[in-house]
Amino acid sequence: TGDRPTGRLHLGHFVGSLRRRVELQNSGEFDEIFIMIADAQALTDNADNPEKVRQNIIEVALDYLSVGLDPAKSTLFIQSQVAELCELAFYYMNLVTVQRLQRNPTVKAEIALRGFAEGAAEGDTTQRQGIPVGFFTYPISQASDITAFRATTVPVGEDQEPMIEQTREIVHKFNAVYGETLVEPDMMLSDCPRLMGLDGNAKMGKSLGNAIYLSDPAEEVRKKVMSAVTDASRIKKDDPGHPDICVVSKYHKVFNAGEYENICESCKKGAIGCVACKKALAASLNDLLEPFREKRAYYEAHRDEVRDIILTGSEKANKIGNETVKEVKEAMHIYIGD
Ligand code: SF4
Repeated sequence: TGDRPTGRLHLGHFVGSLRRRVELQNSGEFDEIFIMIADAQALTDNADNPEKVRQNIIEVALDYLSVGLDPAKSTLFIQSQVAELCELAFYYMNLVTVQRLQRNPTVKAEIALRGFAEGAAEGDTTQRQGIPVGFFTYPISQASDITAFRATTVPVGEDQEPMIEQTREIVHKFNAVYGETLVEPDMMLSDCPRLMGLDGNAKMGKSLGNAIYLSDPAEEVRKKVMSAVTDASRIKKDDPGHPDICVVSKYHKVFNAGEYENICESCKKGAIGCVACKKALAASLNDLLEPFREKRAYYEAHRDEVRDIILTGSEKANKIGNETVKEVKEAMHIYIGD
């Protein structure tokens, strides 16, 4: 599992995946955990801005370390430093049809989201004229990222289910044609809710300007929470409110679960004002984020250590990727030998 380094990670990432990864890491249930900073994948739709991707590798690593991913228990590595992943993808490409990729719902949705299908929009300086091949084939690249490490389990959100399905198909096909070689992964579906944006948008996103970042200072968090969308029908603080349509109440449910029922009841009765309600939420969020900020401050001051962690992880990933490529080539009979 992993993240594309296109920006700092936010609370949506924490709720949707990071929190779970730390739990899995500390559960002792798995012998090995690999977490990838997917810079090569980020380039599939940022080819004209490699510097953004490069800069964010370290930002994502800082976020990982600050939330408690521990390099002694989880291997943190950079995708582009493991060349074997490209090699595997190259072989897997022969096992997938263009039509199958076109049917992949995640690919369809991502293409629509980025406006690739329509070609270059007016004023678009990226000279985008359609779907980059690298982007179109990224489910195959993901199959390499998973199978290279003989992953048995991949934690995913619901929207990524079709990607794992595609990996499983590639594994089936490979093993059927070349003999039992690759490990078929199971998916571990996240039961974490998707966190909506502060503006009421269904998704919290880097590009939507509606996110609270894990690295935001306390004052910034307070300011952002105070700007969150609430029940617009409440004019005076004792007007009865509708917490079911309020973003703040949804955040209370996730980050202040013990108080959630009380807050909803008080809101409905007009016994709590929105300012007080938001202040309580900001306090809960800052309680959660403070230990992350402390860890981050340490690693910010020791960037060489962060660099060493991800390079050491990449070396290890490289070694394992190499072994898998060897097995794959042997299975395919594409080696020079006796
Ligand atoms: Fe939302 Fe809280 Fe205001 Fe109710 S009191 S509308 S839950 S911010």
